[in-house]
Amino acid sequence: MRTSCVNGKMNDQVSNHLINCECGIVGMQISDRINDFSHCHCSQCRRIHGSAFATFAGTSKAGFKILRGHDCLKSYNSSEKYTRFFCKNCGSKLFIEITDEPDQIYFAMGLINDKPTDLPDAYHIYVGSKAFWHTISSNETQYKTEP
Ligand SMILES: [Zn+2]
Ligand SMILES: [Zn+2]
Repeated sequence: MRTSCVNGKMNDQVSNHLINCECGIVGMQISDRINDFSHCHCSQCRRIHGSAFATFAGTSKAGFKILRGHDCLKSYNSSEKYTRFFCKNCGSKLFIEITDEPDQIYFAMGLINDKPTDLPDAYHIYVGSKAFWHTISSNETQYKTEP
């Protein structure tokens, strides 16, 4: 457990994760705490991630840095307020920006290889759009849409 100073405010148990897309061209660093952790079952996440749901971890934009591969980043506006970024070489889904939350970023949790010490409790969103062929088997809180 370390204490460090991020953006002038004191944090303990600060995350520091180096993550990359599948092909390795895009490299990113997370140096602030993970402040949100959710599984999204909406139909857009299901299609875009090609899976039953997509898991996202939230952190501050200030603590999220793209280290390399800017040229390989492509974005897609899945709605007016949601911009999703992916690697245009390997197709890895990387992170989402939401215009209503300008200081925040949500990165795909599947990119994380190490074990974060600061993960908040996970919850499920857009369970009302859940895939019929998937059963949520955890006791985590579920929201029909958003909290
Ligand atoms: Zn890639
Ligand atoms: Zn979603």
